[in-house]
Amino acid sequence: MLSVQLNEPKQFSQMQQPMPKRQQGEVLVKVLACGVCGSDLHAMAGKQPFFNFPRRLGHELCVEVLSADEQSSFNPDERCVVEPYFFCRQCTACRAGKTNCCTRLQVLGIHFDGGHCQFMTLPEQYLHKAAQLSVEQAALVEPLAIGLHAVNRGNIQAGEKVIVIGLGTIGLAAALFAKAAGANLLLVDVSEKRVAFAEQQMRLGQAIVAKDQLAKQVAEIFPQGADKVIDATGNAQSMNAAFELLGFSATLVYVGLHSGDVRLDIGKFIQKDITLAASRAALSSEFKQVIQAITDGQIDPLAMITKKLDFYQIDQSLPKLLEDPELIKALIEY
Ligand SMILES: [Zn+2]
Ligand SMILES: [Zn+2]
Repeated sequence: MLSVQLNEPKQFSQMQQPMPKRQQGEVLVKVLACGVCGSDLHAMAGKQPFFNFPRRLGHELCVEVLSADEQSSFNPDERCVVEPYFFCRQCTACRAGKTNCCTRLQVLGIHFDGGHCQFMTLPEQYLHKAAQLSVEQAALVEPLAIGLHAVNRGNIQAGEKVIVIGLGTIGLAAALFAKAAGANLLLVDVSEKRVAFAEQQMRLGQAIVAKDQLAKQVAEIFPQGADKVIDATGNAQSMNAAFELLGFSATLVYVGLHSGDVRLDIGKFIQKDITLAASRAALSSEFKQVIQAITDGQIDPLAMITKKLDFYQIDQSLPKLLEDPELIKALIEY
């Protein structure tokens, strides 16, 4: 089978590998599509922390079952979504059901080889059936689950004033679920293109381009501040400024990778009775929730896919994505 490996920044190679052999408890699958994640772009650029070369990328996967154990609930030809967060089941976090915080968490395509290949074997527990979803929809489930987790962390309710800052894939995913929850939504980004995309292509409602004084812009729309703010920028300046947008008893959720410091005015923080939450990855139950929400028509994420790549040419086409900083979501078709 064909397998594509990232050898060093921007350098991929195609190689022929033997078909993987399925062990008991595993499912042999054929890869149908794979989304390109921001973390893949960071890896390609050589800027991904905790990343070792060479590595086969790919963790936003739609697959089809080829074979499984006899007593397995999976059958040949079934379409599935892969949950790429492999957790240990034994640490305190896992035993508490917070598998996204597993102390030994291993992410497919980051810590070990991922789905940039034609066939894979995967433990059954990381497959979620997605019979009603199109291949494209199924490949979007993983980033959507990250957005849903942020919305769940914020406990977003109907009628609440909700601001989502940062309109990349995760911000858009969070906005889709906040909208589905009935939030009174305001979207913010520094990019005019992304703001227009969220409003026109994604039809997510009111979106504004952040200027120097975002708090003033927001006060014109939400004079009392927001009930919930989700910051999906991973940008320290934005993460600091987000505190200014909160009303009394509001919740601020940070989603996305960032290392470094965030400063907060502790006086205002206490005065307003603020809740601060972080949102990391997603839970197995949230993968199922996303699949159900798409199946039921509660969310329609398809417009997110703005570019398609042919798997047989990704060694050439993937590095070129780095030249397009406004890219929303590229999908690799096999
Ligand atoms: Zn990802
Ligand atoms: Zn664990």
